[in-house]
Order: sequence, then C-alpha cells, then structure tokens
Amino acid sequence: MEIKQRIDSLTPELVGWRHHLHARPELAFEEKETAAFIAAKLREFGLEVKEGIGGTGVVGVLRRGNGPMVGLRADIDALPIVEATGLSYASQMEGKMHACGHDGHTTMLLGAARVLSEMPPENGSIAFIFQPAEENEGGGKAMVEDGLFRDFPASSVYGMHNWPGLPAGQFAVHAGPVMAAFDTFEVIVEGQGSHGAMPHQGIDPIAVSMQLYQAWQLIVSRSVSPTDAAVISVTQIHAGDTWNVVPNAVTLRGTVRTLRPETRDMIEQRMRERAEHICRAFGAKAHFHYLRRYPATINTAAEAETARLTAADTGDAAVLTELAPSMASEDFSYMLHEKPGAYIWLGNGPAEDGHNLHSPRYDFNDAVLPTGVEYWVRLAHRVLSA
Ligand SMILES: [Zn+2]
Ligand SMILES: [Zn+2]
Repeated sequence: MEIKQRIDSLTPELVGWRHHLHARPELAFEEKETAAFIAAKLREFGLEVKEGIGGTGVVGVLRRGNGPMVGLRADIDALPIVEATGLSYASQMEGKMHACGHDGHTTMLLGAARVLSEMPPENGSIAFIFQPAEENEGGGKAMVEDGLFRDFPASSVYGMHNWPGLPAGQFAVHAGPVMAAFDTFEVIVEGQGSHGAMPHQGIDPIAVSMQLYQAWQLIVSRSVSPTDAAVISVTQIHAGDTWNVVPNAVTLRGTVRTLRPETRDMIEQRMRERAEHICRAFGAKAHFHYLRRYPATINTAAEAETARLTAADTGDAAVLTELAPSMASEDFSYMLHEKPGAYIWLGNGPAEDGHNLHSPRYDFNDAVLPTGVEYWVRLAHRVLSA
C-alpha cells in the first residue's frame, strides 16, 4: 500500500487522538496521563517502550537489523492558559491548554510510529522521542541528562513544530540558527535611600538604573553586527512605595535572545560590565545575575538538506528555505547540541484572529496531521536507506 493511502485511512483516528489529547492538557513534567496514552499506543503498535526518561518522557523503538538509528522527537506538554476557543473538544482541565500545538505534534509522531510499524525500513532503527516540558522547563535537557542518547544512540535527530502564519501544510527549513537562545537576567541596583526633596543626601538607584537601561540597549545597536540579531528586553522594573521617598534599591529583570553562541557570550559579559561600571560611577552597587536557559536551535547543514528533500517529497507547496529565524526558543536545542539534526516548521494556516502560538484562541490545524505523519515516515526511510 502507498504511504499516502495508508495515512489517509488512518486520518479519522489521528483526529480522534488529537482531540482526546487537546481535551486533557497537562503542564510541564506533569504529563502522566499523556505519557500513559503514548506508551499504550506504542505498545499496541508492537514497539519497545521505555517510560520515565527525564521525568515524564517516553521513547518507543522500532528495530530492524543492525543499521543506524534515527531519532524523531515530539513535545507533549501544554500551557497554563485558560482556553477560549469554544471548541467541542476544548480543555477539560481548568487553566491548562494545548495552545502551542503539542497535541498535534504528539499525534503526528504517534501516527508515524503506527505507519512505520507496518511499513518499516529494511535495516535500521527508529527512536520515537516524546519529550515533556518544552515550555520553559527544559524537558529536552532533562531527557539528554537522563541518558536519552546513551540508551538510544541515534546518529541524527529531527524535530518539527507547527507554524501559524505559514500556509497550512507548507514546510520551512534551513541550515544554521532557526530559533534563538533564551537567557534571563536580574540586576539589583543598590543606592542609598533619601527624602524625595533632598536627593543629594542619598544615591538615587532609579536615576542610575535609567542610565543602565540605555547602556544595555546600546549593546544591541552598537556591539552586535547589523546582520546578526539579538534582543535585550527589560520586562520588570520594581522600586519605590510612595511619593516622597527615593528608594534604596531598584530591581530590573528581563530576557536576552541571541542566535550565535559568540554573541551570547559577548552580551552576557557586556551587560555585567556595564552594570558594575555604571553603578560604580554613581556610587551605587550592582548585584547582577545572568542565567543561561535554552541554547540556540542550530540545524546542521547535511541534516537540514535531508529535511528539505523529505519535505519537498511530502508537501504540495515549495519548501521555504529563507524564512528568518525566530527569536523565540526551543529546548530541542539540547538534543541538537548532542547530535546532528534539523528542526522544521510546518505551516498551520493563517495566524489572524488570535490563531497564534500561546493564544487562548489558538488550535492546531487537523488538516496538516496527514502531512506531518507523511514527513516523518518519508524522513525515517530516507535517513535509514542512505
Ligand atoms: Zn510554546
Ligand atoms: Zn511549542
């Protein structure tokens, strides 16, 4: 039977799985019901299953001969959002929602496991990696640290995310950075409080933090190459309680996004230097903390090309290869840090009217389920027959 025909006959079932998962969203590292659903399906398809990797992660393996192994990864967690779609299969879990389409990602990889169990490659193994806690909590890192690639020694690893704003079913992939590194920072500018009418008797931390804010923005405009990209966003400023008191301290917090490791190093260093030097210049003290969260998601050239060729065989529309990277982040980066691989975007259709990722009105587009399954099936065959 042709791959497309087999997937077509499976599609009503795929939609059922997706709606079931959508109605039962679970947050990072709490995906117990979701993981049990995945494991039961994988066993039903006759795969070897390992549960509890990096918390609530699940891996299913299909083995044929002693050829190489390829890793295919989907994320499975939901977000703390109150759903406002009004759908018949809307979330039944108060304050939790599949607003990033991980219900669709899980379904597409399960669909691929089903089809590949019936149409396996001749020689080689496939690890179907179901990763928890993509949203903020770094489940990708947890799985890697828990021995994902020791137990499942894939020679390459692939990921996929739906992308609102791209036409439904159209793919986009390129070599190099596709998603940014995600870091957070905090600085406490410690001055010396005083009467609001007599600022000369103290050290005003608000005035100092305004200087620091400007100096940090100059890192992006003056120290980062105009053809590179970086963002420093101060997203919190906390200080003061009343009208006539200059406070003792100001806390600034925010996020940094970068595409290249060397830019990330440079920004961390200059933010720290400016915090320390500017505070010292005004007689204040800086307490600066910088936390590295997700690294940038960087596709390797050969694997990005494999993904592109596979997508070209799958979709009807031409594969986009020049879409700008997103400054959002993705913890698939931890897997790409260990193994060559590629992360591809699959169009979810128009993003208008709140149909964007993390919106309470977002929903994964069921029309692209068969496209995603077909991509995974063709990719496994392509990689393992090379
Ligand atoms: Zn998300
Ligand atoms: Zn997501």
